[in-house]
Amino acid sequence: GGGGGGAMVEQYLLEAIVRDARDGITISDCSRPDNPLVFVNDAFTRMTGYDAEEVIGKNCRFLQRGDINLSAVHTIKIAMLTHEPCLVTLKNYRKDGTIFWNELSLTPIINKNGLITHYLGIQKDVSAQVILNQTLHEENHLLKSNKEMLEYLVNIDALTGLHNRRFLEDQLVIQWKLASRHINTITIFMIDIDYFKAFNDTYGHTAGDEALRTIAKTLNNCFMRGSDFVARYGGEEFTILAIGMTELQAHEYSTKLVQKIENLNIHHKGSPLGHLTISLGYSQANPQYHNDQNLVIEQADRALYSAKVEGKNRAVAYREQ
Ligand code: GH3
Ligand code: MG
Ligand code: MG
Repeated sequence: GGGGGGAMVEQYLLEAIVRDARDGITISDCSRPDNPLVFVNDAFTRMTGYDAEEVIGKNCRFLQRGDINLSAVHTIKIAMLTHEPCLVTLKNYRKDGTIFWNELSLTPIINKNGLITHYLGIQKDVSAQVILNQTLHEENHLLKSNKEMLEYLVNIDALTGLHNRRFLEDQLVIQWKLASRHINTITIFMIDIDYFKAFNDTYGHTAGDEALRTIAKTLNNCFMRGSDFVARYGGEEFTILAIGMTELQAHEYSTKLVQKIENLNIHHKGSPLGHLTISLGYSQANPQYHNDQNLVIEQADRALYSAKVEGKNRAVAYREQ
C-alpha cells in the first residue's frame, strides 16, 4: 500500500465512477484562456445532446446561449476569485434547443503546489423540481387571488355593485370601535324607496331593477369622506354609514339625498308625486357613551317609519320620545 493517508482506489474503479455516473461530470482547465472544457462524461452528453468532440475546448457557458442569469454568474465569479466551491441552478439549452434546469456544482481542483489547475463540474438536470416549484407557486398565487375574489364577492350586492348588509354590519362593529377611540359620532341613514311595489306592478320587475341601480349609483355619488359608504340593506332599502358628522351636517346631507333622488325624475304614475322618491330616517350616536351599535340601526329604522307616516319623500332625524 502507498504511504498516503487517504484510501487509494484503483484507476479503473475511478474511471467506472465517472463513466457510469448519473450526473454530468466536466473538467475545465483554468491554466488556459477562458477555462475550456477538457473532459465531459457520457451523462453530460446524454443530458445536453452534445457529443464530447463538439464541446471540448469551449467554455461551458455556451449552454446558456446568451440567456444569462446574472446573479448565478456573479456567484460563480466570486467563488472562483475566493477559490471556494459553489452551487448554482442555471437555465441551459440542449443541442436541440429545449430548455433544462442545470444544478451545477463547481469545485476547484488544487495541485501539489496549492494552485488551482482545474474545475470539477457536477451537473444535475433538476428541471422536474424547478417546474414543480413554479407550478406550486403559481397555484398558490391563484388560490390566493380566488380567496380575495370570494371575500370581495360575499361583501358585494350583485344587482347594484354596492356593499351588502353583511359588509355594513361588519364595518359597523369596526367603525364603532375606532370612533370610540377618536371621539367621533357615527350616523346611520336608513333609506327606503316610496311606493316601490306599485312601481314594479306598473312598469315591471326589470324596470324596477333598473331604477334600483340608478338610485344606488346616485346615493353612492354623494360622499364627503372616504370612510363613509352606502350599502344595499335589503330589497329596496339602503343604508349609509358616516363618521364624524355634526347634527347640522347630517340634517343637510339627508335633505340633499332626498332632493337628489327626486331630481332624477324617474316617472312613477303610482306615486302621488308623479316620480320615484325615497324616505330617509337617521340616527346619530357617540360610541364612547353608548355601547350598543345595533341600537343606532333600530333608531334610524324608527325615524324612517316616521318619515313614511309623515308623508314620505322626506328625511327625519331620530328623536327620543
Ligand atoms: P312604501 O312606500 O311604504 O315603502 O311602499 P313600498 O311599496 O315601497 O314598500 P313594500 O315593502 O310594500 O314593497 C317593497 C317592494 O320592493 C317589494 C318588491 O316588489 C320590491 N323589491 C324588493 N327588492 C327588489 C328587487 O331586487 N328588484 C325589484 N325590481 N323590486 C324589488
Ligand atoms: Mg321596504
Ligand atoms: Mg318602500
